[in-house]
Amino acid sequence: MPIRRVVDAWMETHNVRTIRFDFRDDPIDFKAGQFIVCKDEFRGYKRPVQRAYSIASTPWQRDFVDITVKRELPGLMSARLTEIPVGYEMEVTGPSGKYLYETSRGKKVLLLGAGSGITPLYSIANYLLEGNIEGADVMLYYSVRSPADIIYEAQWPTMVRDHANFQFNLTVTRAKPQEWAGRHGRISTDWVRQTAGDVSDAVSYICGPTAMVGAMEDICRELGLPEDRINTEKW
Ligand SMILES: Cc1cc2nc3c(=O)[nH]c(=O)nc-3n(C[C@H](O)[C@H](O)[C@H](O)COP(=O)(O)OP(=O)(O)OC[C@H]3O[C@@H](n4cnc5c(N)ncnc54)[C@H](O)[C@@H]3O)c2cc1C
Repeated sequence: MPIRRVVDAWMETHNVRTIRFDFRDDPIDFKAGQFIVCKDEFRGYKRPVQRAYSIASTPWQRDFVDITVKRELPGLMSARLTEIPVGYEMEVTGPSGKYLYETSRGKKVLLLGAGSGITPLYSIANYLLEGNIEGADVMLYYSVRSPADIIYEAQWPTMVRDHANFQFNLTVTRAKPQEWAGRHGRISTDWVRQTAGDVSDAVSYICGPTAMVGAMEDICRELGLPEDRINTEKW
């Protein structure tokens, strides 16, 4: 059983926490976009409970694996993961999943995410940017309910500053005008077209709640992307 130890953890927002597992003893090979499965015992449950979490860190970092977890109310594993102390150990398996990015799929990448669905997209973006992959062109659209829900808030400006080939587009869906000076509303075809130009030759990765993913697939089609370059993950 692959038992992994929590070596660090920090809050990203009021209800989202990143947990860093130690993988120094036995690193795994994974592709950006894939997930791990966390398994633990819970009182009142006969069998261990297991849940999937997208890997938020990049394959360049082999010593540790980060996941970013939103606490559900009520929620079993997400409550545990957002509370456990550094030093806690649990079973972690993987990597798993066919939702993954490889440079052979194309280096012009359109990332469309909502809420905690940003985690695999963050890994994909950083994989391309940190790796200084030649020819990479990364356009990310991120939709959150309120300004308080922006995950990796401190990281985005740094990524934009350090990488001319990274475009970060943020929109807030449920804020009053006085609460948010940036863009309001959902991700739309027109917004992507106006800000990214022609993306019909891009490969897209979408992640978020089911309804959002369906809407983003339609947007990708309207933007001229063929079906085999539209990749989706929902939870
Ligand atoms: C491939 C994949 C990747 C994922 N990656 C991430 C990720 O990166 N980050 C992330 O935060 N999540 C991710 N998830 C979701 C994650 O796996 C869990 O589903 C999530 O954390 C909730 O698990 P839980 O045990 O806390 O909630 P559960 O206890 O399973 O509850 C799930 C839902 O049911 C509701 N519920 C539970 N009990 C009741 C009840 N008695 N009455 C009414 N409603 C109830 C809860 O409100 C909650 O919304 C991913 C899922 C998949 C499939």
